[in-house]
Amino acid sequence: MMEKHLIIHYGELGLKGKNKGFFEDVLRRNVMAAVRGIGIKSQIQYVLGRFVVKLPADFDEEKVKHAMRHVSGIEYFSITYRVDLDFDKISEALMKYLPRDEIADKGWKTFCVRVKKSQNDLPFSRLEAERDFGEVLFESDIGLKAKMTDPDLLVTIECFGDMAYIGFGKFKGLGGLPVGTGGKVLSLISSGFDSPVAAYRMIRRGAKVEFVHFSGQPYTRREEVEQVKKIVEILGEYQGGAKLYVVPFGEIQKKISINMDVPAKLRVVIYRRLMFKIAEKIARYKKLKALVTGESLGQVASQTLNNIAVIDEATHLPVFRPLIGMDKVEIINESQKVGTHDISRLPCTDTCSLFMPSNPEVSAKFGEVEKAEEFLGVDKIVNDAFEGLFV
Ligand code: ATP
Ligand code: MG
Repeated sequence: MMEKHLIIHYGELGLKGKNKGFFEDVLRRNVMAAVRGIGIKSQIQYVLGRFVVKLPADFDEEKVKHAMRHVSGIEYFSITYRVDLDFDKISEALMKYLPRDEIADKGWKTFCVRVKKSQNDLPFSRLEAERDFGEVLFESDIGLKAKMTDPDLLVTIECFGDMAYIGFGKFKGLGGLPVGTGGKVLSLISSGFDSPVAAYRMIRRGAKVEFVHFSGQPYTRREEVEQVKKIVEILGEYQGGAKLYVVPFGEIQKKISINMDVPAKLRVVIYRRLMFKIAEKIARYKKLKALVTGESLGQVASQTLNNIAVIDEATHLPVFRPLIGMDKVEIINESQKVGTHDISRLPCTDTCSLFMPSNPEVSAKFGEVEKAEEFLGVDKIVNDAFEGLFV
């Protein structure tokens, strides 16, 4: 059996000038952790702007693909057969390893050969080689027609260091930047569609994300926290695990809702400001540098520009809202890609509808909110909540 190698290409970080080495090191470490996570013990080699990992004989292709699709910073990868850089050897391997079953199963009709020459001193031209190997396949009657753009089967031949690496298929990675290059942030997470996608977007930009959830317990269904835990687990796959802090928030909401000095229509804004204040306390304690939410402009009453402004005043930390300009449909589609869709579509069991007024304010006045918060004794609520959080 021929040795197989995983080849990983990364994109944007290649452009980072002086920082390039740092980004590559972090990516390499993350790739290493991901392959270790599926039981592969090989070293990772850096060769001319890509990583190469020798795969053990018994590797599980689906597991490798799953792992690589969860490492931020990978542009694309392929699983390749390695042969000597020699026309006959390559031709032979092409015929021998062509995935005939897969072609039949998937009803593929077209193919294209792409050669990548990573050294200038190779004695052939890329275009010639593509044409020649395409012809080899074509003449051997593989039943596929050549198609240069968007073929069903993309055959890749990467040439470097006296060897050719032949791949059938080129798989798209997440793109983005390696986790660990972008600092640490705290995501306010619920089981809805939005906040998981927002957290994912931060991970994709290289941030390491920790999570805080404000639980409506005991006034919400028991599954509430379980659903959030599952979501955090799914997101954790993109960054080698994730911490979740759970803050009991149900009693706080109840207390606010029965306080006659707090106008009902301001409740939403006040709940959210409290969440921000408690989150800020956690963030400072854990040295996390920003908050992240799934807000999108105008989506619900608390997300009007006026309310966002008043809510923002509750914290001195930067608040990132990666979804601010997205439509709900776009967010839901992205949640499918992220993998959180099927949990988020379950009926909302979290705090979103708990103790909510029937006509929330859409344009809260800062002064009124401040006054109501004075009556409530917000600082004590925040401190007590911080003491009461669990992991
Ligand atoms: P999502 O789909 O993320 O639940 P949403 O459409 O329900 O968002 P809101 O309820 O206004 O919108 O919440 C806005 C943001 O506030 C959420 O995206 C999330 O970041 C944060 N948030 C809301 N509820 C909670 C909660 N119970 N715990 C932690 N964060 C929350
Ligand atoms: Mg929600």
